[in-house]
Amino acid sequence: MKTLKIAIQKSGRLNEKSVEILKNCGLYFENYKSSLISTVTNFPLEILFLRDDDIPEYVQDGIADLGIVGENVVIEAGADVAYLQKLGFGKCTLKIAVQSTSNITELTQLNGKAIATSYPVILQKYLTENNIDAQIRNISGSVEIGPGLGLSDAIFDIVSTGGTLKNNGLKPFKNVMDSEAVLISSKGAALLPEVQELLQRIQSVLRAKSTKYVVLNVEKSKLQDVVNLLPGVKSPTVVPLFEEGWVAVHSVIEEQDFWEKINQLKAAGAEGIVVMPIEKIIT
Ligand code: ATP
Ligand code: ZN
Repeated sequence: MKTLKIAIQKSGRLNEKSVEILKNCGLYFENYKSSLISTVTNFPLEILFLRDDDIPEYVQDGIADLGIVGENVVIEAGADVAYLQKLGFGKCTLKIAVQSTSNITELTQLNGKAIATSYPVILQKYLTENNIDAQIRNISGSVEIGPGLGLSDAIFDIVSTGGTLKNNGLKPFKNVMDSEAVLISSKGAALLPEVQELLQRIQSVLRAKSTKYVVLNVEKSKLQDVVNLLPGVKSPTVVPLFEEGWVAVHSVIEEQDFWEKINQLKAAGAEGIVVMPIEKIIT
């Protein structure tokens, strides 16, 4: 078996969740803050800990076969890689913001204006698509101080709560891109059996994360009403209880409409509802 290399962020917003998802796949490895590389003991895989900005190129060039990194960073780097899976964490939005006092309300008003950003590639793409001719000021950090200093009329940056914008006298103007952490691979590695195996494990962890295992008791006369509410992986499991006329129903439900579903089940006659986390769902 080929030993794969996966690049993840060494420290920062994506590090913890990246390590967690690999551990949840059942991979054993040491995670010392000081190490740059770690060997997985029960799968042919080495983990490289890098700055996130370096990950797309390492993967494109095949130095790492796989990587976990923000979609925004991959697009900004213009890396030619395969997208294997969105990972559901590291979510953020890249926005254009203007001064709170600004009278800019239409995109066309950005023509001839200066925009400060650390994401010139994504911004240029957006401006070109919208036929806007603005000047991009590429700066590496703290872009939000640009307008205050007279460096730019607007900024383009990652915005999460908007607190930083407000503190710098700015307001959001246009959402340009939603981003989240993604699993990427080099084009050459995407179809390797070891890569597909790892991808399947990650997908089974993601599926499990968004679902819960539910066991409940119901009188047989109300069983159909309860079953109608439950999708399950195929269909719910129904087992008889010792008490005549009663059954236990085992099923899997989606986290997102969890409480709504539980209330509907109770209303339909479900009792003694037990909810458990699921580790993996292998289909
Ligand atoms: P590195 O030292 O690895 O270069 P960094 O400082 O460039 O780290 P982080 O701030 O750790 O990067 O952010 C990593 C990624 O997390 C971003 O590229 C983005 O995809 C995602 N992210 C999610 N929310 C935010 C946010 N509020 N601000 C910045 N990045 C965010
Ligand atoms: Zn970075």
